[in-house]
Amino acid sequence: MKRLTVAQKDLLLPVPYSERLFCIEKGLLQNGQRCQIGDCVLAVDPLKHELREPTKFTVRYKGSLRERRDRGTPYAGIYFGLVSTEPVQNFGPRQISCFKSIYSPDVLQYVIKERNEGDHQAVLCSLDWIVGLVDKKFALKSGDQVLWFDDERPTPLRGVVVRIVNDKLASVNFDMDGKKKSIDVEIEALMLASDYEVDTAERPRSPYPFDSQSDASAAAAAAAAADPHAAASGHRRQGSDYDNAPPPPYEPVDPLALATEHGLELNAAILVEEPRNHQPQQGFLRWCGSYRNEAIAGVDCEMTPFDSVSASAVRRACPDAPTDSSISFVQLNRVRLDPRFRETRSPAPDLTPSQRFGHKTCEIVDGDCKPVAHEHWGKLVGPSRGIQGHHNSCYLDATLFAMFTTVSVFDGVLNRKRNKKKDIPEYEEIQKCLKLNIVNCLREHQFVRADHVIKLREQLDKLGKVPGMLGEEKDPEEFINLLLDHALKHDPYIKLSSNQACHVLQLFVDSSQYDLKLPDTETLLHLTLLQAGLKLTQTPSCLVLQTPRSGKDYKLFDRVVPSTELDISNLLTEHPRQCCVCGKLAELECHDCFLQFQEASKDYTFCKKCFDNNKDHKNPKAQHKTVGIKYPKQVTKKYGKDKPVECPVKMKLFAVVCIHTSHYVCFLRLCQPDNRPAKWLFFDSMADRSGLESGYNIPEVTDAGDIDSWLNGSKLKDSSVQPPPEVKRLLSDCYLCFYSNEEAAMYR
Ligand SMILES: [Zn+2]
Ligand SMILES: [Zn+2]
Repeated sequence: MKRLTVAQKDLLLPVPYSERLFCIEKGLLQNGQRCQIGDCVLAVDPLKHELREPTKFTVRYKGSLRERRDRGTPYAGIYFGLVSTEPVQNFGPRQISCFKSIYSPDVLQYVIKERNEGDHQAVLCSLDWIVGLVDKKFALKSGDQVLWFDDERPTPLRGVVVRIVNDKLASVNFDMDGKKKSIDVEIEALMLASDYEVDTAERPRSPYPFDSQSDASAAAAAAAAADPHAAASGHRRQGSDYDNAPPPPYEPVDPLALATEHGLELNAAILVEEPRNHQPQQGFLRWCGSYRNEAIAGVDCEMTPFDSVSASAVRRACPDAPTDSSISFVQLNRVRLDPRFRETRSPAPDLTPSQRFGHKTCEIVDGDCKPVAHEHWGKLVGPSRGIQGHHNSCYLDATLFAMFTTVSVFDGVLNRKRNKKKDIPEYEEIQKCLKLNIVNCLREHQFVRADHVIKLREQLDKLGKVPGMLGEEKDPEEFINLLLDHALKHDPYIKLSSNQACHVLQLFVDSSQYDLKLPDTETLLHLTLLQAGLKLTQTPSCLVLQTPRSGKDYKLFDRVVPSTELDISNLLTEHPRQCCVCGKLAELECHDCFLQFQEASKDYTFCKKCFDNNKDHKNPKAQHKTVGIKYPKQVTKKYGKDKPVECPVKMKLFAVVCIHTSHYVCFLRLCQPDNRPAKWLFFDSMADRSGLESGYNIPEVTDAGDIDSWLNGSKLKDSSVQPPPEVKRLLSDCYLCFYSNEEAAMYR
């Protein structure tokens, strides 16, 4: 087994778990490692690769997005900013002129700072998008330290370029088994050693494994023979102390104190002075330390500053120096604070909403509006539909769109009168904004302009309960709890037998004893409550389930199937329940039977007679433990021992909020009135963008086709048929699943 290097791990971090192996096996990882800023690559959205030919892009950015924090956690790993120089296939003319990204647009703007004449489209993406390198601008010179990626070897071989033979071959000096050997190698298979960090776990014990004195002088001699200029002037990439003696013993310094001493702050935006006639480099200060009795800084700049100190030498000398490949080291006295870093990014206050957010009007609607009825569903589809995203609002846009567009189960929230004793003073203001500015606009105009959502965010921000409501990205469940629980004090939808109540139920299971390859939400809901020893004390009018994952960072299962229907009969405390064998009133539960028999059946309730007749429980090895079921008197009276029980309680799926690399979107499932297959719509509040820094997002709702036929039945288990991209996305990204029970909604 090959171990991944730090550089490889960094490239794989932003890639979804399910795609990582593919990237390693199909050479995408190697492509990603080799391509640099300025290279031409072929890229395609991995979710749509069946539909699209790869497009030629130029790499405009490669690096970390560490300073772009997302709910307090940085984007992990290495990202690519690509710009296409030719029209993208299968995009309409509207998209071609715009910048489009699966990440929030302001991150894209950060990465691709300016738009050149002839740029058609920009994407910020991870490694899995890049399917090929077209034109590797790999200017190799003699004297360069390189790594040779030879398929025969477990680790790359390090050497020094002696001579460029032609545009395909280079003659490289390698140290093989203690002997110097010069080999002609394909340039394609080489990589500059400075672009590549060796995993510490692989590092040989010798402190100077690659450029010991003898190696260095041999390399210098070889380089001098081939190209006297390179040896004389010293190669920039090679590091300025290449042939110096080993560094003195390390004396640790406090980076924080050192930065303060120089009037700097760690992680602050800084400028690095460059030689005369060059603009200073912008970047961020990441580290300070002492190297060879000189104060040096670890800076994260787009390009390596001139005359930077050899990174590998600093890291060898200072074990606490950052190992991130995007960091270069320069003398600390070249670094100063960027005077522009406190510059505010908010637009001039005298702009009207239509100047800021486009000309589509969005009049506030008074009174009560019904959800969009099935005869008007067609009006929902198209560009500029749904809620217009602005500045990390996607979690809120996707959630509100799910809750209010086509269902009324949450309407109680909009209409409850203020209770002077119980409610907060801002209650009416927030409720009015939610109802008139957002829900009514969504239902009447099928469009909510971004300033309406900003107003709600401002009101919620003022409550001071959750910091950063105005600008930061949050989790949808955090928003639901803030809005429904804290601001509007709505009676919780979910009531548990432990006397706890909540608006969102987090699914969490110990899956160790089960074979859950592709679990559905119904199974996970039952397992969650069984393992916690909990029941629901009443049928919820709506049930929001959070899949077992934590945002974009952690997933218990690669994919989860949102069940289109949940049978919750067995989860209700007072509901008559059916024996899974004979259909009469069940008297006991056997949790050990759950998912054990009949192709992982979800049955676990029995009458005493059927339980005793079942061999599987009697097997002494199985040792199934039972729990008796206690019913209210009227239930036992009504059903007795002989009457069949036939009244399942079901919840219907109506929306799913999905997350992919910290961007939230929403799928709506529309149940047709006459039992025709449900329709599915897909909503993205930042689907498109008009203009760059001062522009605005264009939300969009698209038809997502027939998804029900994939979620129900056995098609997903058949590995010979590939689900369409929408279904793949739904399964791998589903985060919150919204269910309703209309009967319960009518009584409450
Ligand atoms: Zn029975
Ligand atoms: Zn059992």
